Amino acid sequence: MRLSQLLIKTEQQTPADADLISHRLLLRSGLIRQVSTGIYSLTPLAWRAMQRIAEIARDEMNRIGGQELLLPVAQPASLWRETGRYAAIDASLARFTDRNRQEMVLAMTHEEAVTDLARHVIQSHRQLPVMVYQIQTKFRDEARPRGGLIRLREFQMKDAYSFHADAQSLTEFYGRVTAAYKSFYARCGIQAIQVESDAGMMGGGDAHEFMLLSDSGEDTLLLCDACAYAANLEVLELQQLTGDICPRCEGTLRRMRGIEVGNIFQLGTKYSEAMGAFFTDSQGARKPLLMGCYGIGISRMLACVVEANHDGAGIVWPTSVAPYAVHLVSLGHEPEIRTMAEELHAMLGAENTLWDDRPLGAGRKLQDADLLGMPVRVTASPRALAAGGVEVRHRQTGRTRIAALDEVQMVVDSLLQ
Ligand SMILES: [Zn+2]
Repeated sequence: MRLSQLLIKTEQQTPADADLISHRLLLRSGLIRQVSTGIYSLTPLAWRAMQRIAEIARDEMNRIGGQELLLPVAQPASLWRETGRYAAIDASLARFTDRNRQEMVLAMTHEEAVTDLARHVIQSHRQLPVMVYQIQTKFRDEARPRGGLIRLREFQMKDAYSFHADAQSLTEFYGRVTAAYKSFYARCGIQAIQVESDAGMMGGGDAHEFMLLSDSGEDTLLLCDACAYAANLEVLELQQLTGDICPRCEGTLRRMRGIEVGNIFQLGTKYSEAMGAFFTDSQGARKPLLMGCYGIGISRMLACVVEANHDGAGIVWPTSVAPYAVHLVSLGHEPEIRTMAEELHAMLGAENTLWDDRPLGAGRKLQDADLLGMPVRVTASPRALAAGGVEVRHRQTGRTRIAALDEVQMVVDSLLQ
């Protein structure tokens, strides 16, 4: 991809109203543009990175037997009345009346829609367990959107729902999802910790959140120094426990700030009972389906990947998420440099290589390469040519070397591993 053709405009100045580093970098790099409060357009580089995050989520869900589907965003209010959430949820649930005067909502989560599907499709214990998931747009009219892509009103989410015949099956599957989530965060270049959470409006049994430790997080976490206990402060205040002593081992709890990057819940039969989603068990008895639900904010993940992977000069994309693997820079106006860059662009693959072919000076182009943060920079310049080839630089470590043209591919590949 030629940068001269790419729909993007980088900014030299740090935006004044952005507190979080990911917000500042995503704006400065031209990856996102605010359209309204908590509502952003994603430019092609951001969308490529987000698609890669979504693809990792898809892969992890498929590995544990998840079946991808698509549930509607616009839903009749009657579904949400069945569970009582139409009245229980505040103005964050967007409501509207359609042209036939039917009351509707824009879904902020999909328990009602998926339970409605399940009650029509699942009849027998032989169909269980089953897990479905989707990756799509949600709308939540947040009172206080913040931090760029951290707390949005319109966002991309991966949400999954599992159905079970008994508690043992739900608990076993919950463990498999937990492992899949840990793998997902590691593959995206994020160290997320699992903490006990409050089930809140979701209702039901066990609940956990996955947190990126960050001073700019809005959640307060309590981590035990002596054992693996970790919880959101909200949990202890519910349970009316003191926040300093570990409820498991009486060790000392440390307070940290975190950004939630995912959550998992054992919903039990809350939704299936409310909506009449029953199955016939092996003894012929009619029972409500047990459910689990599992979310990852894909838009928020994009911000968190940047939050966890940057330096003073810009974004440092993990290879797994980077919009392009290679940032090719051609410097100078000499025809042989231009020709060499064209050959490199073709050799490294236009699909994986962003080529800065703009007629700009070296300072600006190298600055933009650091800001945009692709894992490997390849620079074709008269100076590098005189030294025997092109300059190959690893964005994360800053290690730089001259590579002859016939070894560029090998050097780049070794840096991308
Ligand atoms: Zn402890």
